[in-house]
Amino acid sequence: MIQSIPTIAPIATQIETMRAHVLVEPGKLEMQQVPMPEPEPGGVVIQVRSALTCGTDLKAFLRGHPKFPTPTLFGHEFSGIVAKTGKGVTKFKEGDIVMSTHSAPCGECYYCKRGQENLCDTIMSTMVLGAYAEYIKIPERIVRQNMFEKPASLAFSEAALMEPFACVVHGLEEVTTSPEDTALIIGNGAIALLHVAYLRSRGVSKIVVAGRRDFRQQAALAVGATHLINLTTENLEERIRELTDGRGADLVIECTGQPHIWEQSVNLSRRGGTVVFFGGCKRGTTVTFDTLRIHYDQITLRSPFHMTPRAVRRAREILIERQVDWSLLITAEYPLEKLGEVFEELQKGDCIKFAVIP
Ligand SMILES: [Zn+2]
Ligand SMILES: [Zn+2]
Repeated sequence: MIQSIPTIAPIATQIETMRAHVLVEPGKLEMQQVPMPEPEPGGVVIQVRSALTCGTDLKAFLRGHPKFPTPTLFGHEFSGIVAKTGKGVTKFKEGDIVMSTHSAPCGECYYCKRGQENLCDTIMSTMVLGAYAEYIKIPERIVRQNMFEKPASLAFSEAALMEPFACVVHGLEEVTTSPEDTALIIGNGAIALLHVAYLRSRGVSKIVVAGRRDFRQQAALAVGATHLINLTTENLEERIRELTDGRGADLVIECTGQPHIWEQSVNLSRRGGTVVFFGGCKRGTTVTFDTLRIHYDQITLRSPFHMTPRAVRRAREILIERQVDWSLLITAEYPLEKLGEVFEELQKGDCIKFAVIP
């Protein structure tokens, strides 16, 4: 049928725009006026109140990312206020203050049906990027599963930690810990520090962090590390044996994503211990382990990826419990237009995460 009603509206209402950062190509950021997103049925549009930087964003900025072909909107850790709701949304209304992840599983594929929603066939292809903007559009599947009310006890920037923290919670979901354990975390960036906070909430008494930058080592102590190993001046294997009566750590968590550290991690575990490879290495890299060590010393190797809705809910609960001052993970806040400066600061490395405030 031909639509015969003339649709003449003032220009201003036809083209609503917002400010958003576009990664035009690696190394080149531009703040642009882009069309204001409209919610899809079951989805919402969030007015971003805080967006956090993440190692993935820095990698995408410096050398591109296979999952984010440029030009692209980016930024994926955020919290904010519901600005518009799509058809059929009943869980939220305009003005609700929310925290959310940027991905959610389909619930129907082979992996989802087996409780491995982190491996969902479409979880990566449907994820949302674009938190370094005034508004971001969130699809139905995320609204339904991974978006929640933000309590006033969490600041917007703290609530935006839910996504990376959920990945950390997921990574240790099937790892048992006991209070007497010694956990070794290699690396001292945001993900490493979130592991410290999580192990502390699980009551692990000895949490050792091995890293280089003093700023981050001090932050690790502040969020609950009990021992520090300086990788520039100390021998990691010697120190960990000293701290464990020669046995090695009960749990080793690799947070650097470097193949040689993956290999070394196995030598830092005690007999019967667990090694968690959290840091993903560059595509095409390989590692070599001593099979005798893995088999006769019965070392469990785990390599968790992404997160499940169950982990998101748990991460949110722990954030709200506030056993840790989460603001320690946010080094500074910057206005949206200063994102270029933020990436310069990130490269210097004396920081954990920055919050970008539109
Ligand atoms: Zn992230
Ligand atoms: Zn699925």
